[in-house]
Amino acid sequence: MKKRFTYLFYIVIIAVMVVSCGKVMITGRSQMLLFSQGELTSLSNQAYTEIMSKSEPSTNGSHIKMVNKVGQDLTKAVDRYVKEKGWEKSLEGITWKFDVIKSDQVNAFCLPNGNIVFYEGIMKITNTPDLVAVVMGHEIAHALAKHGNERMSQEALVGVAGQALNAYLGSESEKTQMLFGLAFGVGTQLGVLLPYSRKHEYEADRLGLIIMAMAGYDINVAPGFWEKMSAGGGSKMEFFSTHPSDANRIAQIKKVLPEAATYAPAR
Ligand SMILES: [Zn+2]
Repeated sequence: MKKRFTYLFYIVIIAVMVVSCGKVMITGRSQMLLFSQGELTSLSNQAYTEIMSKSEPSTNGSHIKMVNKVGQDLTKAVDRYVKEKGWEKSLEGITWKFDVIKSDQVNAFCLPNGNIVFYEGIMKITNTPDLVAVVMGHEIAHALAKHGNERMSQEALVGVAGQALNAYLGSESEKTQMLFGLAFGVGTQLGVLLPYSRKHEYEADRLGLIIMAMAGYDINVAPGFWEKMSAGGGSKMEFFSTHPSDANRIAQIKKVLPEAATYAPAR
């Protein structure tokens, strides 16, 4: 009986994986997405409202202007590219919006609904449009590649395997909400994402540089930016503790620069 249950369990898992397999644009990597973009968007909207209600908006005009300008440039380039390719579906449920929060936290994040938030603390480091674009491109890439959904899906499967979630959580939507909370740090440290896997970080670096290049920004500032962070104790800052910068990461960033450069507009 137990054996039959095990077989059944694997059949269900395989069926789920086949049904919900997605592909990341440009990198072509296959991924398992168990949640609808609609679910992710509505949970993101709630999280955004919660974060903003507990934060003070920046009054630094030049920071606000720079973050908005770079954000507009990069997302316009992405939207154009996606339309050219006929991949509009990948932008469903995403409405790009840019905010700067008055806080010394060295942090920035993007929710799966396209809300991108920079803290004033990180603006001391990303003090030029190209440097803002390094972080912005990376954050846009996480949303575009649906890394949040993928991570929640992986956590959900672990939960199903352990039966832990089903044991004490009632409704399906409560489970989804809890997984979102886990993935996006909601309820613990608001807006502080748990670290993505190395695979997601590398993919966001690669896609982020491509997006930067599409918008005509100087991708060659990226290795120096991450090098400075790895040398200067960046790991003590929120953004760099979830984005550890080491020799491997910097080497892979350098490796993808030539590919990213091919996306730059012709001069
Ligand atoms: Zn990241």
